[in-house]
Amino acid sequence: MNGITIALSKGRIFDETLPLLAAAGIVPTEDPETSRKLIIGTNRPDVRVVIVRATDAPTYVQYGAADLGVAGKDVLIEHGGAGLYQPLDLKIAKCRMCVAVPQGFDYDHVVRQGARLKVATKYLNIARNHFASKGVHVDLIKLYGSMELAPLTGLADAIVDLVSTGNTLKANNLVAVEEVMPISSRLIVNQAALKLKRETLGPILEVFTQAVEKIA
Ligand code: ATP
Ligand code: MG
Repeated sequence: MNGITIALSKGRIFDETLPLLAAAGIVPTEDPETSRKLIIGTNRPDVRVVIVRATDAPTYVQYGAADLGVAGKDVLIEHGGAGLYQPLDLKIAKCRMCVAVPQGFDYDHVVRQGARLKVATKYLNIARNHFASKGVHVDLIKLYGSMELAPLTGLADAIVDLVSTGNTLKANNLVAVEEVMPISSRLIVNQAALKLKRETLGPILEVFTQAVEKIA
């Protein structure tokens, strides 16, 4: 493929990347929310968008199946970032990675006591590093979704999850007790494509950089 393939996930990342693409003169011809197509054309014959699961975007770009993509910092840390160039924080899909516990659970006391903490999360690497740096002993339990359920059923004492408004936590009687790190989405570029397709990719990266400054 001579043109450019961009890997995006449906939802907030697709929606919030649209204005940046528009600034670069790229307009997808279909909306992934209503279309079932996974390959979407754009107004530019040399640019297409592939719709991937959020956690798969780094994999597509790493192996060159897509030249460019957008992925959350959470996803990038869990993936490891091999084969990826990460030139730009797009400052979109912003939220916070947090430790949350049931209301009334004395997290600080448990941490001070040095007791073991059972933590359920989708983000094993982030959670492992966080608690290791605090010197807290944890048993990590891998989940794939609905983390809020874990402390309510006795599966875990705490969760590590993304929080934006806190409404989901509140609805399940949980509270965020610690921020692990702020999260936003980044542009990811295949390292080989950056060299081989510099003429097409260079201007897109430049416009994105300028657009991020204006929009943010
Ligand atoms: P799924 O929801 O289908 O299981 P996912 O959680 O991986 O998949 P999204 O919910 O679309 O996918 O999240 C994509 C990215 O957006 C995440 O990797 C994260 O960086 C960011 N994100 C997730 N939740 C929020 C949120 N509540 N507010 C802002 N950004 C978020
Ligand atoms: Mg989600």
